[in-house]
Amino acid sequence: MNLVLFNDFRPGVLHDGKVFDITSLIAGIDLSRPRDTVRQLIAQYGDLTGKIAAELKGGKGVPLASVRLRQPSPDPVQLLCAAKNYKDGHEAPKPDFFLKPYGTIIGPDDTVDLPPVEARVFHAEPELAVIIKKRAVNVKAADAMDYVFGYTCFLDVSARGVSPTFYIHKSYATFGPIGPGIVTADEISDPHNLQIKLWVGDDLRQDFSTGEMANRIDKLIEVASSVCPLEPGDVLATGTHHIGLGPVQDGETITIDIEKVGRMSVKVSDPRKRTWEKPVPLKR
Ligand code: MN
Repeated sequence: MNLVLFNDFRPGVLHDGKVFDITSLIAGIDLSRPRDTVRQLIAQYGDLTGKIAAELKGGKGVPLASVRLRQPSPDPVQLLCAAKNYKDGHEAPKPDFFLKPYGTIIGPDDTVDLPPVEARVFHAEPELAVIIKKRAVNVKAADAMDYVFGYTCFLDVSARGVSPTFYIHKSYATFGPIGPGIVTADEISDPHNLQIKLWVGDDLRQDFSTGEMANRIDKLIEVASSVCPLEPGDVLATGTHHIGLGPVQDGETITIDIEKVGRMSVKVSDPRKRTWEKPVPLKR
């Protein structure tokens, strides 16, 4: 199932190019609280699958192009990002993380605003993100995949050179695009065998497999949940392969595609209209 939030954060299912509204299927839903919408959807999901299947058969979906998709987990308790988690030159990194505030989160087709700070360059790292299913405290790696509700695409935007540590350069508003939907875990037989691609405009910049992760998702959950509880709807981004990472700048469109998970584009706006030399793309 590909679960989305759309328009005013209504819950829906993306199926066959159409979005099916499932608001009426969720008990006790209050659309004024998007965080609760996601949590209710996750908590009730086991009971909802039959009802959703009936809804899909009913054929009341609207074309995807007629709705605005929103970030599928709009205000997680934690947006936790793995640091240096690929076998791309760093020496066997141990799991480590940084947090992004939820004010960074935007959704599909939204705009990343580059702040007027003295950055060396701005980057957008394509990453597979895990959506947490249930409260995770001191979970062992062997049990960790039971805590995965689904997967989505994530862009970890940063303003390089602004701060020596993670917080400031990773945490400007709009620096955490998430979407387009949450593909439930049952749809992804092996999350460590997915191809991630990133385009800037028409240029393919990155193309790597999640199989190159240094610390796999179960290990990331084990370590993260040993530090602080993970809650339903939390977003755990699994890091990027840094090869091919290059500048993003005003007027560009960034597109992330993860096999079986989805594709999301965001725009870039920079009031200062700064430019950087573009890297040679992998492919045009
Ligand atoms: Mn990252």
